[in-house]
Amino acid sequence: MMKFWNKRAQLGVLTENVAFEDEIKTIQKELKDKVKKKFAGSLAIRMVDSGSCNACEAECNALSNPYYDLERLGIYFVASPRHADVMLLSGVMSFNMTPHVLDAYEQIPEPKWVITLGDCPAMQAPFEKTFAIKAPAKEHLQVTHHIKGCPPSPKEIMQGLLDFLKKI
Ligand code: SF4
Repeated sequence: MMKFWNKRAQLGVLTENVAFEDEIKTIQKELKDKVKKKFAGSLAIRMVDSGSCNACEAECNALSNPYYDLERLGIYFVASPRHADVMLLSGVMSFNMTPHVLDAYEQIPEPKWVITLGDCPAMQAPFEKTFAIKAPAKEHLQVTHHIKGCPPSPKEIMQGLLDFLKKI
């Protein structure tokens, strides 16, 4: 038994990544400060999928878990565009979804911003030249900020939201 505890004391907790956690805490603190300053402590995001593979959405779901816990910082995913400040747009702007994306954008009250998430909405030639794909999204909407990655990790999404808040 003592052998086990000695080894544990020498090695520490191997599953922890202290540097990663410090980075996350720094981003969280800055996010909370910026949301408080620029959105009175409450930033509402309407996520819109314009034809994604759902991996970007899965990474966004992780932002609501107790580890990243975006709501604690004052950032909320809302069900209606009428309650939103920001549209977070994923996917390739498919032929069928493009009118619905534009409709959702119209429903967001002013002032409003669009952030594109993942490489799909910024997709360049030759893929956007097909009948079914209307990417890049910036040809349809005024995009304020782009979060790249396929998919971006929760940390990269948080950093992207922070960069957006610094930009506006
Ligand atoms: S950017 Fe990548 S992960 Fe995100 S929806 Fe497109 S293909 Fe999927």
